[in-house]
Amino acid sequence: MLGPPGAGKGTQASRLARHYGVPKVSTGDILRESAAAGTALGLEAKARIDQGHLVSDEVAIAIVEERLSRQDVAFGFILDGFPRTVGQAEALDGMMAGRSPLTVLHIVVPVEVLVGRLHARRVCGTCGTNADPTKPDLGVCATCGGALVTRADDDEQVVRNRLQIYEDQTAPLVHYYRSRPTFFTIDGNQSPDAVAVAMQGALASAMSVAQGEPR
Ligand code: AMP
Repeated sequence: MLGPPGAGKGTQASRLARHYGVPKVSTGDILRESAAAGTALGLEAKARIDQGHLVSDEVAIAIVEERLSRQDVAFGFILDGFPRTVGQAEALDGMMAGRSPLTVLHIVVPVEVLVGRLHARRVCGTCGTNADPTKPDLGVCATCGGALVTRADDDEQVVRNRLQIYEDQTAPLVHYYRSRPTFFTIDGNQSPDAVAVAMQGALASAMSVAQGEPR
């Protein structure tokens, strides 16, 4: 999943993971869990996350390397929030050696829509699920009943930092991946159901590419 903050990567990654029965691997979720657990790595990461800065490539790559070494990803996985830099993308190519080709779903959403979405976003403080913005905000998570909170990094100034960092460090990945036959651009400015359908279509094409069939 490649796209700016607020593009819907987390929501769609969860849906795809459920649909295909494979794990979702979210570096943001793993970092927030480490921060909540109070590990040294987590506390250092928290300061960077709260200000909207990226954690180092070294930390992000180590997290994904460890996660992809587990058995449950053998039949596939959905990556959310990684890679975010060219250095991370190069490391991921190394990790993918000997596996099926990576499918890249580039989600495109106008910037003013992103700012509005992030400003309004509410997430569960317990399980991390994003609240459905089309439903009334009752303050509790529909998945686990935990309390809904606003992420510290969804503060307006921090959001603008994160969008700038995306432009500077992550948007170059479009150029890095775009010539691959398994790169797809998805219109993220439509309903979550319509985005999910577009992504499943792209993944079906990607599987044909992997099996050597015409697209
Ligand atoms: P996310 O939930 O994907 O928006 O990530 C929240 C924050 O976690 C980001 O703003 C970064 O501070 C940090 N983070 C998550 N993934 C990465 C990554 N691949 N590289 C560097 N920092 C990351």
